[in-house]
Amino acid sequence: MHPLELASKVIDEGVAHEPVNRVTNELTELADGLAIVESFSHTLAWDTGDGLACFDASGAGSGANVVSAIRTWRQDPIRTLVYTHGHADHIGGSFAFADDATAHGHERPTVVGHDNVARRIDRYNDMSEWSLLINQRQFGGIPSDMGLGLGESATRFLPRKTLLPDVTFSHEHQLTLGGTTVELHHARAETDDHLWAFVPEKKWLFSGDFIIWNYPNAGNPQKVQRFALEWAQALRQMIAAGPELLLPAHGLPIEGRERIATVLSDTADTLETLVRQVVDLMNQGASLDTIIHTVSVPDDVLAKPYLRPYYDEPEFVVRNIWRLYGGWWDGAASRLKPASDAALGREVADLAGGPRVLMDRALELVDSDIRLACHLADFAGWAAPDDPGIHADRAVVFHQRRLREPSLMSQGIFRSASRESRAIAERSERDATPA
Ligand SMILES: [Zn+2]
Repeated sequence: MHPLELASKVIDEGVAHEPVNRVTNELTELADGLAIVESFSHTLAWDTGDGLACFDASGAGSGANVVSAIRTWRQDPIRTLVYTHGHADHIGGSFAFADDATAHGHERPTVVGHDNVARRIDRYNDMSEWSLLINQRQFGGIPSDMGLGLGESATRFLPRKTLLPDVTFSHEHQLTLGGTTVELHHARAETDDHLWAFVPEKKWLFSGDFIIWNYPNAGNPQKVQRFALEWAQALRQMIAAGPELLLPAHGLPIEGRERIATVLSDTADTLETLVRQVVDLMNQGASLDTIIHTVSVPDDVLAKPYLRPYYDEPEFVVRNIWRLYGGWWDGAASRLKPASDAALGREVADLAGGPRVLMDRALELVDSDIRLACHLADFAGWAAPDDPGIHADRAVVFHQRRLREPSLMSQGIFRSASRESRAIAERSERDATPA
């Protein structure tokens, strides 16, 4: 189904009948001279009348496929490449755009982005191994051809040939592409280097990751700070601009002024409500523990097909709001300068009658209170770091946890905990087998 038609059906009926985040690397025309290549992330390609302008370069693994798809549509030089932000799935494919220019004897595209994109690229290069590790955990099991190029063989997070921005700006910037004005607006949201682009003459909104057809990625447990309130403010600004075609970097493009305004304002509403609730509780002196277990997003909001918690989730957003305004300490005195996990695990195990007692109770609790079960499994694992039986069961508890979680981020982390213990159990079994 044409992505615009699918988006209208899904939003109007409030139900997603089929996947909305599609990674096909296929190009579809959305308007006269405007096309999308649905990938991870998407590239939006626009024939400006004076060459092509593209928004986002997709990831290292998908960039070349995306460029090939564009070349089935237009042969004009790609003159401009706008980065909505510097995440790897949006800039990692930029080398393919440079290769395409070389192959066609065109000049390399001028890359446009926010001032902070270059700083992000420096950080990714400085922390390449860390970035690979946390993304492998986050996307656990994602095939490397899905765009990030994060297969087992990946040795660099960002390809060496990733293009740096040539033109940068801090707050707002205007481009003229083929005689048409394009406004670029910076706002901190998912990242500190994010922009959204608006074409007033056509009412097109290139929204980057402000809209991803999942609950906003404002909480990500393994990543740097995100900015929920500024995110919502930017969404309000977008509504005020009156877009009639919304062009996100993940999920489906959306047409229709009212439909777009609904999606933007529903997303802004939930972020604003979360921030308000967290800040009110902070003002009352609540600890992070109280806040985590008090604040939630109503089920009917999370059921909206563009706000489902399948990637990030509200509980993590709550933590990031706390971290932004309140620092990293959670308000529990013992966790300001805690004992080591190993010492805590041993002490609790000794009191309980041994790691096995803790683990048996963890297994008992799996169905009634999986959160509690995971704590006991961790205590037991810390108390008996090399015990194959304990770790075989810890693997079971975290496997069960993973099965019960809706979001990719939770699933990824619990899956990795389960694998970690499974590896300990199997290693010890191997060591115990006589040669
Ligand atoms: Zn993205």
